[in-house]
Amino acid sequence: MLGKIHHPKIAVYQANNFRGKSAEESVDLIEAQVRSTGAKALKFKVGGRMSNNQDFPKGRTEALIPMVRDRFGPKMVIYADSNGSYTVEEAIRIGKIMEDYGYDFYEEPVPFDWYEETLKVTNAIKIPIAGGEQEPSMRNFRWLIKNDALDIVQPDIFYFGGMIRAMKVANMAATKGKTCTPHISGSGLGYLYMMHFVSALPNAGPYHEFKGFNHEIPLVNSSSSLNSVNGMVEVPTGPGLGITLAPAFIAAHKSVNA
Ligand SMILES: [Mg+2]
Repeated sequence: MLGKIHHPKIAVYQANNFRGKSAEESVDLIEAQVRSTGAKALKFKVGGRMSNNQDFPKGRTEALIPMVRDRFGPKMVIYADSNGSYTVEEAIRIGKIMEDYGYDFYEEPVPFDWYEETLKVTNAIKIPIAGGEQEPSMRNFRWLIKNDALDIVQPDIFYFGGMIRAMKVANMAATKGKTCTPHISGSGLGYLYMMHFVSALPNAGPYHEFKGFNHEIPLVNSSSSLNSVNGMVEVPTGPGLGITLAPAFIAAHKSVNA
């Protein structure tokens, strides 16, 4: 219903959040996660999260950027996400370090609604700039795409209002030759929504966000093993999400009428 299937299998990037831990501890934890899924790409957090240039702990980001590249080698695809931690000047300084270590994208360098500032960072940094997970406005996405403030768009399939709205953003991005790597929260069946959305995206980025298969909502069967094999996951096929929810789980809940 979303469109033609372009990607029956999806390559995932391993996402994590070890802010607050030292650079040394963070890189060990990132490595353990990446080894467990076989992902060929990863993303980690830099800066303190909307922290006006404060790092957490101090000095972590500058130590961790070279450390992650050294640990995983030149072939690993590496993304970094500041969650709007920086002012323009600091975002550019950190982005230049990522450039030196061959990073593959830099997400939310400044607060998400600092549109002109995002554009300044994008113009100053050679590596692609990604963003959009907090953006609620179709018109703001249009501005960000039209003005080349973002290289990669990341509408959230839940917060932005579902797959159809998110697909409109991806289509706008396609008209400018840009890719889409949707953002999705780690809870519930978000991972399945991500997979179905990406499977129908002609301009999908090469790797997609993966925070693990949570088992909050139990399934009794699925047309895919829902395992990451060498960093690839098969998208379930069939009606709906291609899975069946456990009948006992459904029976234990009551319907809520508005
Ligand atoms: Mg993010």
